Amino acid sequence: MPGNPNEIKLVNNAMANATRRKIMNFLADGDRNIEEIGESVGKAMLDFHLKLLQQASLIELEEGTVRLSEYGKNFLKDKAEKSTEKTADLSQAKPVEIAEIRQLLPCIADSSKFRVIANMAPPLGGTLKVLEPLFPRGRYSDRINALIIQKGEIITTVYGTGKVTMTMIKNEGEAVESLVSLKSTINEAIAKGVAPVPREKVRVEPMEIYKYLPQTNCGKCGEQSCYTFAIKIMSGEAPLEKCTPLKEPEYAINQEQLQVLTAYI
Ligand code: SF4
Repeated sequence: MPGNPNEIKLVNNAMANATRRKIMNFLADGDRNIEEIGESVGKAMLDFHLKLLQQASLIELEEGTVRLSEYGKNFLKDKAEKSTEKTADLSQAKPVEIAEIRQLLPCIADSSKFRVIANMAPPLGGTLKVLEPLFPRGRYSDRINALIIQKGEIITTVYGTGKVTMTMIKNEGEAVESLVSLKSTINEAIAKGVAPVPREKVRVEPMEIYKYLPQTNCGKCGEQSCYTFAIKIMSGEAPLEKCTPLKEPEYAINQEQLQVLTAYI
């Protein structure tokens, strides 16, 4: 039964796809054969979807019959219960504006880059905590009441008081672009009025990324080896798309697993 972080990732990946969610819900009414599932959800890539659900221990396949595993049944039950729980409310939050960039100071970590201080109004206070899942590399700190977001080299800290700091900024243009993107991500969530669903807290290691790369060390990504590329992905210095061999059909499952893993970085 899935329990450790790697297994949780497999489950999250399996359930991230609409067709696979449909298959799970279809099986909730009882065992089915592959033909019946194909008629209900479509036959395109059916083997692929079933394989991912099976890898995640959500279903069992036996002589053409597909059924929910015990874990799969419990998973659906938990999900139904959670969906009836009250979702964090953002209806009282007001859209934010990011006011003037108040200072451009040399960055402590790299003197060729800048540190930026801006102001977000109205301040989001404790609401910041529920916004954490909006940012793939975002972490909320209770201690300083701030949301810390990493994107590539740039680290942005949004404080509950409205203060926003950014480090490792190349120039004012990059600062403005990053602040506009931050504002629109937050305002889109506020417009919906509902906080995003919290992410599972899982830690990704370079070896996990490497495991799903083609491991041919072909160099097409510009790195000497697949492992070096995995480290670059971990540090945010290279996007997954740079590994073009992954687009080949034989790596379709690997690519999907990697997309999920990289969302946790
Ligand atoms: S392009 Fe992909 S397969 Fe080739 S070295 Fe880079 S990571 Fe490895």
